[in-house]
Amino acid sequence: MSRVETFTASSPIDFTNPRPSPHSEPLGFSHRGSSLPWSTNVLVDNLSSSPTLRLTASPILGANIPFNDNIFPSLPPLLHGHPDVHLRNGVMNAYSLAATHDPDAERAFFVADLSQVYRQHLRWQACLPEIQPFYAVKCNPDPYVLRLLAALGTGFDCASNGEISQVLDLGVDPSRIVFANPCKAVSFVRNAGRVGVDLMTFDNADELYKIARAHPGAQLVVRILTDDTKSLCALGVKFGAPLVTVPGLLAKAKELNLNVVGVSFHVGSGCYDPSVYTDAIVRAGAAFDMGTEAGYQFSLLDVGGGFEDALFEQAATFLTAAIAAHFPDRRGIKIIAEPGRFYVSKAFSLAVNIIARRAPLTEAPSLAQDTSLDQPSVMYYINDGVYGAFNCIMFDHQTAHPYVLSMGGSFHVMDSEPVASSSVWGPTCDSIDCVCPSTPLPSALRVGDWLGFDNMGAYTLCAASQFNGFEVGKVIYTTGGFHASEVRSALARFAAQGHGL
Ligand SMILES: *Cc1c(COP(=O)(O)O)cnc(C)c1O
Repeated sequence: MSRVETFTASSPIDFTNPRPSPHSEPLGFSHRGSSLPWSTNVLVDNLSSSPTLRLTASPILGANIPFNDNIFPSLPPLLHGHPDVHLRNGVMNAYSLAATHDPDAERAFFVADLSQVYRQHLRWQACLPEIQPFYAVKCNPDPYVLRLLAALGTGFDCASNGEISQVLDLGVDPSRIVFANPCKAVSFVRNAGRVGVDLMTFDNADELYKIARAHPGAQLVVRILTDDTKSLCALGVKFGAPLVTVPGLLAKAKELNLNVVGVSFHVGSGCYDPSVYTDAIVRAGAAFDMGTEAGYQFSLLDVGGGFEDALFEQAATFLTAAIAAHFPDRRGIKIIAEPGRFYVSKAFSLAVNIIARRAPLTEAPSLAQDTSLDQPSVMYYINDGVYGAFNCIMFDHQTAHPYVLSMGGSFHVMDSEPVASSSVWGPTCDSIDCVCPSTPLPSALRVGDWLGFDNMGAYTLCAASQFNGFEVGKVIYTTGGFHASEVRSALARFAAQGHGL
């Protein structure tokens, strides 16, 4: 059994207590309390009310599963158990590293729950059984995520040579890749031809000339412009041929002896009004007719990405109805999609350490009388920021919502804990590095405590920089709670075929 040690938690820096918050009512800050959805291990259950942290000597294991059953020797360990358990273990591990004066003891870290990716795939298959997902690699090219999706049989949307080789290196057949970048370097087009990636998108005439020169046997997909105004990240300003230009493009493709096989679109990433899929399908139907007029017989409809976790079922309903209405005869037509964030956003959580704390420059002298909580009374500095994983705030227009992971050496935070409006900042020396301008957090939070952020799987790690010398957090992988055995056997089968090792 795991060895259990206890030690007194202490913050590396001892702050004097500020005056207590005047706000006795909780403002609804988030925390996880001790309510693990399920727990297989007594170590976790007993942590709650204790002022000390119990240090586990090894990752928490499922009952009968041997520890050393890593499927891919080249990758970090694949652990068992609920992600919350690993968030807590990571925090406890940081405390023990601090005790040995590790230079990076309190480093931020991710926990990735692969069973969450698996469940999204089940959801996809249940709601859109006719549409084959081609995962958009750019969203999160995590090695375990790619292996799991490859094992589950999805295709991949790649945008560069780098993404193509990352996927091919896993043993994925090139026919399972769509090179879905309508504006490619000519050397990338040539390389795609060399490695057998034939399916690729275009939205302009120059691309046709390049492809005719560098990969004349390609199977082309015309990317059309659709309404992208209902999304977090509009893409239409950069990509997509307006319908009026499509006949001309198809005529040019014919002239160049190129094979156009279908139509694609993208409603914009992070689509918050899935009714736009209806209009997009109408336009795709029109583009199919243009294909027929140009002498092609289109056989591929690519409905792109944009699927939001919370709105997925709604989007699927709109899509299914629109496809039924505008593609009544689907014989001979293959339908694919390029979901990115849908698969990964909820699968990754991030734990960050509060490394510093200070008062704002202009502190309101009597916040007690100030009914508006918009003016933060505390500034917390954490060890990841907008130059790191929180680049999603800049590039992906996200809002970060912290919760308290550990406070004062305990994982248990009372609901009645007084809170104060706070701001949260990244570790770099740039003032643009603000993670939350204003959010309620317990006023008892100190340097050394930990915050957690959920939904950190999409467009986070992949675009993080090391600006100012701050490294991106490592990822701790788990096969999660429910569906852990399905995940493990899918990965094991994949590895047994010699893939991804
Ligand atoms: C980014 C991108 C995607 C993925 O979009 P999500 O909103 O993450 O689903 C799909 N296709 C293309 C061409 C993209 O550029």
